[in-house]
Amino acid sequence: MALIVQKYGGTSVGMVERIRNVASRVAAARAQGDDVVVVVSAMSGETNRLLNLANQVSSHVDDREIDVLLASGEQVSCALLALALKDLGLPARSFLGHQVRIATDSAHGRARIKSIDSTRVLESIKRNEVVVVAGFQGVDEGDNITTLGRGGSDTSAVAMSAALDASVCEIYTDVDGIYTADPFVCPRARKLGRITYDEMLEMASLGARVLQIRSVETAKRFGVRVHLRSSFNDAEGTWLVEEDEQMDSVLVSAVTCDNDEAKITIRSVPDRPGLAAQIFGPIAEANIVVDMIIQNASADGTTDVTFTVPKKDHPKAMELIEKNAALIQARGVTSDTHIAKVSVVGVGVRTNAGVAAKMFQALAEQSINIEMISTSEIKVSVVVAAKDSRRAVDSLHASLIESR
Ligand code: ADP
Ligand code: ASP
Ligand code: MG
Repeated sequence: MALIVQKYGGTSVGMVERIRNVASRVAAARAQGDDVVVVVSAMSGETNRLLNLANQVSSHVDDREIDVLLASGEQVSCALLALALKDLGLPARSFLGHQVRIATDSAHGRARIKSIDSTRVLESIKRNEVVVVAGFQGVDEGDNITTLGRGGSDTSAVAMSAALDASVCEIYTDVDGIYTADPFVCPRARKLGRITYDEMLEMASLGARVLQIRSVETAKRFGVRVHLRSSFNDAEGTWLVEEDEQMDSVLVSAVTCDNDEAKITIRSVPDRPGLAAQIFGPIAEANIVVDMIIQNASADGTTDVTFTVPKKDHPKAMELIEKNAALIQARGVTSDTHIAKVSVVGVGVRTNAGVAAKMFQALAEQSINIEMISTSEIKVSVVVAAKDSRRAVDSLHASLIESR
């Protein structure tokens, strides 16, 4: 008999019939003799609906109250699932984050799990109950409710798996695995049987929202076996695995697209020491994460600095730079929110020098202009106009994945 953790995402619990479907899947796992801990997300659309309500009553950002509000989404779905399980005759018990005690830091809206006290969960399992835990939420030292950032129920599930030493963490969603590209963007995308933790980490940080990045970090750190699969069928999904020797023979594992960044260019700033610190210091102080940075020197001793920030932080970043403009002595600041970052990811990028060149060739053939480029050990990213992003994903998939 094994202990398994199953996580069901928003679409999988988005309607009453789907909650019943989840209950029968849990019943089937129990019938095999396994103990089951279920982690649920809010019903699909609910977190956005709650955020929208908050925006209507207040223009003030109050992270603590927003977390109290957002955590209610998962409270509803975990209670409904526990009811549906009992309706099938299965003993079940729901737990909110603070009842398990999922202890986090106090960074509202993006809290990190510090520890999980599994005592109550284990007692419940001993009583033969199915444990249903509200995902996405925790509690800080001062007993304030916190949330883990969008998509955070994945992290709740992986962290629960690590705390309980579960034999597997099954993440159920609306696709039946991790694909070589978002199957809704690139219909020819193929399902991967397995993917390394490192590749999935890159993919998650580059816009593939199929798993929250922190869930992958946690899985890698604690060696949690993660199996991502569909709640609508029984197909084998995708396993997260450690890298092995055969893997770098595969050039590229996946193409991703991130539409959530904006580009800012500061024109003709004097090319002198300390400049980058002057530009990026205040931005970092405001907790804005800068992603790509390019600096071009020109003949007249000035330079253009271009960088990207999350779209949601774009207004704040512009405000800070404009405030700072006199000090920086720039000749102008421009920005563009209609961009996309398209990336190719794979452990093969490390050993195959030709990946970037092949990528640029494929985009050139489509007459897609590359605005920025960045590389790391296992990925190459380019910034293109948002209107070109689907075509870019498609052509990169065709030239780097389908052609092999
Ligand atoms: P859930 O609500 O179950 O957590 P999400 O919407 O967060 O589901 O994540 C699943 C979605 O991730 C899919 O519907 C798909 O559009 C998207 N996605 C992006 N990239 C990929 C990929 N490479 N493979 C599979 N799904 C992907
Ligand atoms: N309900 C939260 C969200 O929509 C958490 C999750 O679904 O994982 O982001
Ligand atoms: Mg998700």
